[in-house]
Parts: sequence; C-alpha cells; structure tokens
Amino acid sequence: MDKHNLGVNTICTHVGEVEDTQFKGGVSPIFLASSYAFMDVNVKRYPRYFNTPNQDHLCRKIAALEQAESAMIFGSGMAAISTTLLAFLKAGDHIVLQNDIYGGTRNFIETQCDNYSIEYTFTKDLSLEDFDSCIKSNTKIIYIETPSNPLLKLVDIEAVSNLAKSKGVLTVIDNTFATPINQQPITLGIDIVIHSATKYFGGHSDICAGAVAASQQHIDAIWQLGINLGGNLSDFTVWMLERSMKTLALRVKAQQRNAKRLAKFLQAHSSIENVNYPGLKSHPNYNLAKRQMNGFGAMLSFEFKSHINVKGFLSSLELIKPSMSLAGVESTMLLPAETSHALLTSEERRNQGITNRLIRFSLGIECKKDLINDIEQAIAKQIL
Ligand SMILES: *Cc1c(COP(=O)(O)O)cnc(C)c1O
Repeated sequence: MDKHNLGVNTICTHVGEVEDTQFKGGVSPIFLASSYAFMDVNVKRYPRYFNTPNQDHLCRKIAALEQAESAMIFGSGMAAISTTLLAFLKAGDHIVLQNDIYGGTRNFIETQCDNYSIEYTFTKDLSLEDFDSCIKSNTKIIYIETPSNPLLKLVDIEAVSNLAKSKGVLTVIDNTFATPINQQPITLGIDIVIHSATKYFGGHSDICAGAVAASQQHIDAIWQLGINLGGNLSDFTVWMLERSMKTLALRVKAQQRNAKRLAKFLQAHSSIENVNYPGLKSHPNYNLAKRQMNGFGAMLSFEFKSHINVKGFLSSLELIKPSMSLAGVESTMLLPAETSHALLTSEERRNQGITNRLIRFSLGIECKKDLINDIEQAIAKQIL
C-alpha cells in the first residue's frame, strides 16, 4: 500500500497516530511526561522542545494534509504567527502584509514591529500590482490570508508566490479559513502555512491551538526561536486536537454545503443588502476560488439593509449562537466591528469595508432548514 498517496479522509483518520505498543489500544495513548530520559535515547524530549510523542505524531498529520515536509503545533494561532514571523525577521527587515488580515495579527504587527526595528507595509488592495509596489530592497516576507476575514476576499496565491520568488522573498499564508481540505498553498508555491487550530482543526470550540507547516529547513528555523519563546501546546490538548482532526474533512465538507445553501438564501432575501461568499457567482473572485480552492469554505458574511435592527436580530436568534470565534460544528454569528476588528480604528474599519451592519456567519453542521427558519424568525422580529 502506497502510504505517500493517501486520500484526505484517510490522512485525517490515520496519519500520525501514536502506536500503543504496551496495551495495543486502538487510539493514540497520551504521554503527559514533562521529564524524559537523556541517556540511550535518539531524541531528548521535553514539551517546550515541541517533541513529545503526541506533538511529534500530530505534526505528521498536519504536514501530510498540507503536503509539507514538516510541521509544528503551538499553544495558539497567535503563538504560531508571532513565532514564525520573528523567526525570519530581524532589525532592519521589512514585511509586506495583505491589508485585511486577522485583527490579532494586525495588532501584533502594529504594536510589536517598532520594538524590533522591523518595518512593515500593508497593501492597499489585493492586486498583484499592489503587492509588487510594496516590495522594497529589505523586504523579507510577504504575508497573506485568503479567503480573508470577514469579507471573504481572495488573493491569487500562485501569482503572489511567483512574485515573491522572483524577488527572493519568503511567503507566509494564514490558511485558517480555507483549511488544507480546500486549499494547499505549498502546492501553489507558498513557503510557510499557518493555522489557528482553534478553528477548523479543533472544530468543537473547545481547543485553543496553532500550527505551522513548511519545509524542514524553515521548521528548524521556527523551532530555534520557538524553544525560546515557549509557545508549545500541552500534550493533553494535543491529544484532543488529534481526536478532532480525524473528522476535519467530514466536518468542513458538511459545513461548506450549508454555507453554499445559506449564501443563496441570504442573497435572495429582501432585508439583506449583500452577501460575501466565494462560492457565489456574483463574488468578484469566484473564478479564482474555483482555480485555487477545492471547495468554497464554510465562512460567509452579509450586510443587513437599514430597516433591520442588527443587534436585535442577533439577540432574537434561537439556534444560531452570537459568539466570538468560528468554525465549530455549531453555527455562530458575530459583528466584526465589535469583536474581531474592535482593535482597529473606525477609519481602518471603514477603509476595509467593515460596517456596523456587517455580520460574519460561521456555518456549522446543523440541518440547513433549521438555520433558515431561525434566521427568518429573527428577521421578522426586527423589521424597524
Ligand atoms: C483566530 C484566528 C487567528 C488567531 O488564532 P488564535 O488561536 O486565536 O490565537 C489567526 N488567524 C485567523 C484567520 C483566525 O481566525
């Protein structure tokens, strides 16, 4: 059997299992030791060295899903992002970032880069020309996130990675929204792929974790800084994450079926101004989405017309939870202006097109008719 060419559900289920050699149990045992032997061993293990048995094995599953040589797991998505960026940026370097990236990443850049004498530029839009014009002689990294949060805009991954290669610049992508089920950026030329594993990898809104996948050489560089910053994930949570990831492909596919159906329902609704979903033909990047993604994902956003009381709508929902975070098996909605993008100034929000009437919708696995009924009843109560 060719173990290098497994299907995605098989990778999710089997790759990276820890074998229970002692009792022959059918699932990975948890190794919680924070103290391992140093004599007569091949690897000197320690949780903060990211190399306990559970960490080591789960990394293989993540690397296989992303078609990467290697991977690392972190205590949060932000630990993965900050450790990766600081591993490659030194004083005097410059980084180009896509304009509408995750609010926490933007906050990290804007509050920390000055302290390390690292220069940064945010693109104005997502065109290749704009990325090109931001590159300077000291540019070290181009950082993208596609589809973006919360407007679901797409960047042409292959075009950006080709541009970066031609200038000797490293590329980093936040692949959280797409997941490797829908998008494998390394196959499109990207160097380093990052995930907030808090989202689809965990999938049940009960884990906070992060992951990075890349070549062994790049992972080694991230590891060198990682052991100093100490952002590893506890082995109990690593084990929970492995358990969750067995159903990653099943969940994402069920969630994006719901997303496509709900996007069409919302688009046809008289109280809704517009819907952002890459799987709609009206989406400006629909063709790009078809080219670089295997599926359109399970996140969408929509804007209410002014005759709807938006906060009243959220409070009237009976099934869909208005809550922070995303990607769980349960559907959730939030107001980006008050949560994920609250740290931005209102001018930054306006520049990005994030209004107070915009709702981000993370689709779960519920029956679509129940989601539609819930939205209908909540809208009916809030027509001003
Ligand atoms: C949540 C999120 C992050 C940050 O991850 P944490 O696990 O909360 O640290 C980064 N990028 C995206 C796209 C996210 O949604």
